[in-house]
Amino acid sequence: MWRREGYCLGIESTADDFGVGIVSFNGKVLANVNDVYIPEKGGIHPREASRHHAMVAGRVLSEAFERAGIKPKEVDVIAFSQGPGLGPCLRVGATAARALASYLNKPLVGVNHCLAHIEIGRMIGGVKDPVTLYVSGGNTIVAAFEARRYRVFGETLDIAVGNCLDVFAREAGLKPKAGKPLGAVVEELALKGRKFIHLPYTVKGMDLSFSGLLTAAISLLREGRHSLEDICYSFQEIAFSMLTEVTERALAHTEKGEVLLTGGVAANRRLQEMLRNMCEEHGARFYVVPKEYATDNGAMIAWTGVLCYRYGLITPVEKSFVKLKWRLDEVEVPWI
Ligand code: AMP
Ligand code: MG
Repeated sequence: MWRREGYCLGIESTADDFGVGIVSFNGKVLANVNDVYIPEKGGIHPREASRHHAMVAGRVLSEAFERAGIKPKEVDVIAFSQGPGLGPCLRVGATAARALASYLNKPLVGVNHCLAHIEIGRMIGGVKDPVTLYVSGGNTIVAAFEARRYRVFGETLDIAVGNCLDVFAREAGLKPKAGKPLGAVVEELALKGRKFIHLPYTVKGMDLSFSGLLTAAISLLREGRHSLEDICYSFQEIAFSMLTEVTERALAHTEKGEVLLTGGVAANRRLQEMLRNMCEEHGARFYVVPKEYATDNGAMIAWTGVLCYRYGLITPVEKSFVKLKWRLDEVEVPWI
């Protein structure tokens, strides 16, 4: 059945992005439309973000069909991000997916958001069996496949590295400029930093902690003894060295030959540089997922929906409730 050509529509709505992707069964991305919620001030407010998603859902869906050049009835499978994520946001995507599946009489597939980040990266980059570093506003995970699942080798014990950068940037009074996310604004300032200031470096076993680094960086800001550029530079050096250390140990332990970098923070050149150097030393291939597919997007959900569907992993409507804390290592992956 699954050999025939077909299309999967995927809906992403775990946090601030509402995205719809349409992907063919053989991995061609026909559409990947996204609309991001930008808070007026402060971080993501789950209810406000969900309101945004509900407002834009109709338009993003029709735009995706238009770009893909197909009609709703030509879609064979409806996939959605079932978790982990923010409850109110997840529910908008799940509701839209259930409505579409029932109206079109098509199967529904609930997809794990973290798994989707890895699978789209593997597909787009032709990467086979990597150690993945997934770094975003909500997640910081080092994972690799072993015995039917992606095992989590290391993860953050408190906040995600992207969130850490964003909170720091807001404390410094920085604003997203010209569509540049806060992490990218910090990156730009860090390039002008010259002096390295010691800040807390916290790796516990294979896990990471960013809250001490954040607190220390904020007190440095308030002290006013150092330039913002130097603090940004030191902050990045510390945070990214921690990530590189854990990724390196996972690579050495698993003896895999590839490293995949994904998530919104993957766009950072300094992080890329550190990981690339580390990979060279280990003779491993390094692949950075392009921005469109590294930040939250609908195409990754659609593609993982295809993989699940091929293996009969369909989600009955009565089991399609959202899972706010659904871990990557709870998911069986039969396609590897
Ligand atoms: P995501 O959660 O995948 O949508 O990614 C959003 C996160 O990526 C936010 O925390 C951003 O600040 C961060 N980000 C985006 N671009 C960069 C960059 N160039 N350097 C560091 N962080 C970034
Ligand atoms: Mg996002």
